[in-house]
Amino acid sequence: GTFPGDHSGSLKPRQTPGVLYSEAVPTPVAKPALLAWSDELAEELGIERPNEDDINLLGGNLGTANMKPYALCYAGHQFGNWAGQLGDGRAICLGEWPVDGSSTNGSWEVQLKGAGPTAYSRRADGRAVLRSSVREYLMSEAMHYLGVPTTRALSLVTTGDQVVRDMFYDGRPAYEPGAIVCRTAPSFLRFGNFEMLAARNELDSLQNLVDWTITRYYPHIQGEDQVLRWFGEVVERTASMIVEWVRVGFVHGVMNTDNMSVLGLTIDYGPYSFLDNYDPDFTPNTTDLPGRRYAFGKQANMAYWNLSCLANALVPISKDVDRLSEVLKTYEEHYWTKYYAMMGGKLGLDHVRDEDIQIFQEFESMLAAIQPDMTIFYQLLIDLPLDAQTEQEVVSYFQSSFYDDLSPEGRAQLHHLIHKYQTRRKANACTAEDAKAQMQSSNPRFVLRNYLLHQAIEQLEKGEDTLFRKLQEAIKDPYSKRFEEFFETRPGWATEQAGCSM
Ligand code: AMP
Ligand code: MG
Ligand code: MG
Repeated sequence: GTFPGDHSGSLKPRQTPGVLYSEAVPTPVAKPALLAWSDELAEELGIERPNEDDINLLGGNLGTANMKPYALCYAGHQFGNWAGQLGDGRAICLGEWPVDGSSTNGSWEVQLKGAGPTAYSRRADGRAVLRSSVREYLMSEAMHYLGVPTTRALSLVTTGDQVVRDMFYDGRPAYEPGAIVCRTAPSFLRFGNFEMLAARNELDSLQNLVDWTITRYYPHIQGEDQVLRWFGEVVERTASMIVEWVRVGFVHGVMNTDNMSVLGLTIDYGPYSFLDNYDPDFTPNTTDLPGRRYAFGKQANMAYWNLSCLANALVPISKDVDRLSEVLKTYEEHYWTKYYAMMGGKLGLDHVRDEDIQIFQEFESMLAAIQPDMTIFYQLLIDLPLDAQTEQEVVSYFQSSFYDDLSPEGRAQLHHLIHKYQTRRKANACTAEDAKAQMQSSNPRFVLRNYLLHQAIEQLEKGEDTLFRKLQEAIKDPYSKRFEEFFETRPGWATEQAGCSM
């Protein structure tokens, strides 16, 4: 049946004590049209290409008899402060799609993002503009193909409506075309869901939610100390996710605890960006200036901070607070172990020796000092000749990755480290071909840069989809040389495009 679509009620956030969700019905839109569809994901989920009814469903205009759509309630720490009750203000979960033999065994949650207000919408309409929907759609799929744990996107539907964009110039609302992403994941549960129940002191519900999460998504955890062991796995998965972000140069931009998945997935794509020039202080989030809490180089620490919020929420149901805090501290060990292995892969080392850790640190500080384009620098490194070169030879070799002329110190630092690195590479027990293959699979050649997204969206707003379609293909093969037209540094005109709307 069709949704009634009666949303004449007010938009103030409803407090929902005792429950962690509210029923939420998508608000119909003028004219849903399919802009993008993820064939591979659909195939994996056993979903056929959408017909007209399906497109209406993906646009929020149609429900099915067995659908009981809802919005989840959660809380969160935002930019370091307790924000109280939040919730799915612009995402509505349509239900769960059963997936046989899937890697996650069981079902996937299916959400519409931008389908209208819910009980948790705060002073906003629950809609999403084309810009933010294209960004979530493309980037979550790009991250998947990069091999980074992430939620997925199944479809992108334009609504035919104009909606107020989330960004305001001079305080005036600006209108942009609306769009809805259908996104999927085994679960969208966040740290904030657990924090919400703990904050309300609803401890039976908290225990139930933890038990359910374990049974459903961590079924191998059985017997003693379930809560501690589960938390330990969340800690480990979170560390893995952050190391993967570092590998590809991804900055999330809004690592609030309501945007942290308990499955260790990258979730809620807002003002994210890849690094162009390697700047650990870079944040694409203009609301995070000048503090730069969620800058690229701080993400590992912020994840730990967020995990400590989750640990706090689990205190009342964990039998042993000391051990809970010990488990929290395993983050550091997990992080560095994974980080070293990741860096070994990027640098093409046969295995990580103790002395290599210093080389990793030197790469980190050299890159931060000379700020070459991260993606291009590592691509050049793959083909670096291993015989000694003069300083000028080394600088020339990496020239196409630089945004600025190097200072004399920068040139010397680069030359010195590259020489040390060449020596280390020659000590590899594996063949040069093996090292190269390892580097090729660790270092993406194509990343979905902000300026490319920006251009593709500007074109789409004018009804032109050429670049969008190209990017849709390029994201699927990021380690190949198939899309050389995108293999270049960020152009000068795009320097200021880093900041983007949530
Ligand atoms: P975010 O920064 O996107 O993670 O969102 C933080 C909170 O604000 C969440 O509770 C969202 O559901 C809510 N929110 C963000 N944008 C909107 C919007 N356009 N309409 C309603 N709620 C929103
Ligand atoms: Mg969010
Ligand atoms: Mg968001």
